[in-house]
Amino acid sequence: MHEGSCHCGAVRMTLPSTPEVATACNCSKCRRIGGPWVYFEFGSVKIEADPESTAEYIWGDRTLRTIFCRTCGCVTHWEPLPPTPGRKHGVNLGNFDPKLIATVRVRRFDGADTWKFIDE
Ligand SMILES: [Zn+2]
Repeated sequence: MHEGSCHCGAVRMTLPSTPEVATACNCSKCRRIGGPWVYFEFGSVKIEADPESTAEYIWGDRTLRTIFCRTCGCVTHWEPLPPTPGRKHGVNLGNFDPKLIATVRVRRFDGADTWKFIDE
């Protein structure tokens, strides 16, 4: 099981499986947050946090909400809006063990412009 958390530990996440590929995106939001991102069906990642301990950021076409820790500021994940189980759900792999991150192939995605992978 892969468990991760924000820097202060207020938000804890457990992945349902081992990711093999992650995405590094250059859109206006992701280039600031970092990542890389791994994706799962919404509802399959165990997320433990006091609702008071997190805040959200919603922008643009309002198709997702980005969640971060109110204490340490780390962005942990994003959830689809509306929050429908099974929809795409992003987790910031930077909150996990560096040994896991090192095993994952990170692909560069041009979210800023073409919406295509730009690494091949
Ligand atoms: Zn925190």
